[in-house]
Parts: sequence; C-alpha cells; structure tokens
Amino acid sequence: MKKKTIVIGSYNPGKIKEMTYYLKKTNFKILLAENFKLNEPEENGQTFEKNALIKARYVNKKTKKIAIADDSGLVIPILQGRPGIYSARFAGKNKNFNFAMKKVHNLLFKKKINAYYISVLAISWNRKKEKTFTGKIFGRLIWPPRGKLGFGYDPIFMPNGYSKTFGEIERDIKNKISHRAIAFKKFMKFLS
Ligand code: IMP
Repeated sequence: MKKKTIVIGSYNPGKIKEMTYYLKKTNFKILLAENFKLNEPEENGQTFEKNALIKARYVNKKTKKIAIADDSGLVIPILQGRPGIYSARFAGKNKNFNFAMKKVHNLLFKKKINAYYISVLAISWNRKKEKTFTGKIFGRLIWPPRGKLGFGYDPIFMPNGYSKTFGEIERDIKNKISHRAIAFKKFMKFLS
C-alpha cells in the first residue's frame, strides 16, 4: 500500500483522538471524514467487522483516498455480548454515556462482571482492496463509574492486571494496552 493520505471514518471525538495518536507514528497525512463533510453511513452490519468495513468502504468511495474506520464496543458475555455492536446506540441520540453505563449496571446483578472491549479496524483502498485488524482487551466492570479520562464506558471498565478504570488510567497507558492499541499494532505490522 502506497503511503499517502488516510481519512479517518469516524465522528466520535474520543475515537478520533486515539486513532490520530497511532496514525501520527506513520507517514500518512491524516484527514477526517468531517473535512469532506461526509454523512455517517448506516451501520446495519451484524458484526464489528462488517460495520468497520461499511464505514471504511464508504469513506474510500466518497473521498477516493485510503480510509480507516474503527468499529468497536463493550462486550459483556454474561449479557449475551451486549451492548456489543450496539454500544454507541445504548447511549441514545444524545450520546449520554452516564445513561448507558447506568443501563449496563441495571442489567447486571453480580459484583464481578467480566467484559472486554473489542476494536476492529478496517482499511479500504482503491475501491476493491480491504483488510481488517482486531484487538481485544479483557477486564471487568465496576460500579459506580470512576474517572473522567477516556470516553464511552471507560469509567466502568477495569482492565485485567490494573486497579484503575480506563477513566482513571493515564492516556499514554491506555493507548499502549487498549483494544485499539492491539488492532493498530497489527495495522502497523501490515504497513511495514
Ligand atoms: P461505534 O464503533 O461507532 O459503533 O461505537 C463504539 C462505541 O463503543 C463507542 O461509542 C463507545 O461507547 C464504545 N467504545 C469503543 N471503544 C471504546 C473505548 O476505548 N473506550 C470507551 N468506550 C469505547
């Protein structure tokens, strides 16, 4: 893949911030979907992979540039995988994650709940070529939420081996260990 411009197919500020952190380590010139005033395509896939590809293909088609998109979410096995691909939708139209975290809490009845974050990165280029990279980080959920860092469900997610939530853990550490970090590591390997 020739290294040129890459367009991040996301409107989620938390995600854009983290994706930019990794992409800065590459030679790509980074642009955002909003620079092209693109709409968000409907995410009607039933898997993270399908939704990541829907977003990356859409941006590649509209911009004719290499596109990268992340579809991710919080997966809680005891809740049959919910919120999963519906992680963003759990927060409602106003993207209120205090509401989403409370909703998750209300669905749970045990103290120690295992969960994991998953990130599927999709790269789409030349309208035909595409590739996905997946990362997962395992941990557990705590209540009440702790910490103001990060985004989404970070204040209730505590990665295994840590006694702080992603809402409390410094950005540099989250960016080294997270589901997105693992997916990006695979992407970087592919680039090299
Ligand atoms: P989507 O990939 O745009 O469908 O949305 C993914 C949703 O999963 C986000 O809006 C967050 O709620 C959640 N999520 C994914 N990755 C993270 C993360 O690193 N921290 C917190 N929440 C996340």
